[in-house]
Amino acid sequence: MAACSDSETIPLVLVTGASGYLANHIVQQLLEEKSYRLRGTVRNVSSTLSLREQFPSLHIVEADLNDDKGWQEAIEGCTYVIHVASPLPIHVPRDETEVIRPAVDGTRRVLQACMDVGSVRRVVVTSSMTAVSGMGEHGRTYTENDWPDADTLKDPYSKSKTLAERAAWEFVDGKSVELVSIVPGLLLGPLLTAKPGASLEVVKRILENSIPGCPHIYLNTVDVRDAARAHVVALVSERAPGNRYIICGESLWMKEVAQIVYDEFSSQGYRVPTRGMPKFFIWLASLFSSQLDAVLPRIGNEIQFSTQKMKEDLEISTRPVRESIIDSCYSLISKGFVEKKQGYRPRQHIASSSQLD
Ligand code: NAP
Repeated sequence: MAACSDSETIPLVLVTGASGYLANHIVQQLLEEKSYRLRGTVRNVSSTLSLREQFPSLHIVEADLNDDKGWQEAIEGCTYVIHVASPLPIHVPRDETEVIRPAVDGTRRVLQACMDVGSVRRVVVTSSMTAVSGMGEHGRTYTENDWPDADTLKDPYSKSKTLAERAAWEFVDGKSVELVSIVPGLLLGPLLTAKPGASLEVVKRILENSIPGCPHIYLNTVDVRDAARAHVVALVSERAPGNRYIICGESLWMKEVAQIVYDEFSSQGYRVPTRGMPKFFIWLASLFSSQLDAVLPRIGNEIQFSTQKMKEDLEISTRPVRESIIDSCYSLISKGFVEKKQGYRPRQHIASSSQLD
């Protein structure tokens, strides 16, 4: 009898949106496991040089969440799919459907292609804490049983993630494909090949001193490497199918983020804004900025998330937020997204998977 080739015995995993911040780390960790063949979707293959250089064994294919084209081919032969791609705009779009349509219809497209292809055993989707808490109610602790009322959500991103995750659960109801939802907090930590997206904007703005002060906003954070780990574990965990998992590390006020940045970088020539920003000032500015308008309901809201399931089922423990913040900053500087000041000292210690200089 002929020996099985690798392509028959090693499971094939598709990671959607492979060019993104979180997906880069998922791809890296899956490759480190040496137990999978990997395929990744991007919107435009011609702009993926750094992705190809970083991950030469990743097979890159094109597919857009707004289009049926390419999804069936991307999923053909896959045992697992990790659906990460979703629009995460830095600025609030004028038309909310720009974010909602690709998130919701794209999720249905990916799941429909999984059903059509027939080989997919499990799909892990990336949701968001906003699909648990919405804007959040001060003092509450949220669990995986919580869902916001999508109709009341003002912010298109929160609405898109809530509706997309709901669509995923409704789609798989009564079908053979297994679904797991990973629900991360605000991602911080090093960049691999992606550009800094919406989540690193907070740290970037503090480091480059481009905000007048820190709004009184509470951030429920998690390191991007820990969130990526959760996806990798959820792919094969026996307990995971049918479950949502909140993935959260330490939570802190934005002012405390700025203090951590200040402690590390003020001696390296960086002016770091550590003062607060009065709510009245934000309210006034929100009349002219949809971005601030979306943030207003969160001012002063201190909310918590239960991580019991994350710890018990997935056995994930999370890094200290200080490490994630500092790694984010060194990564932003070393990759040229924030200016290298004269007193800048490249980091000596390199955290695992962080690829810093
Ligand atoms: P990111 O770097 O912006 O990655 C988003 C990815 O989605 C990119 O690869 C992007 O492709 C892709 N994408 C966007 N619109 C698309 C479309 N129409 N068709 C195909 N692909 C499309 O963001 P991220 O921080 O890694 O986020 C990844 C996932 O984690 C998202 O589902 C996000 O909602 C979720 N999440 C993020 C955070 C956070 O704090 N960052 C927190 C909780 C959950 P292009 O490169 O072509 O633009």
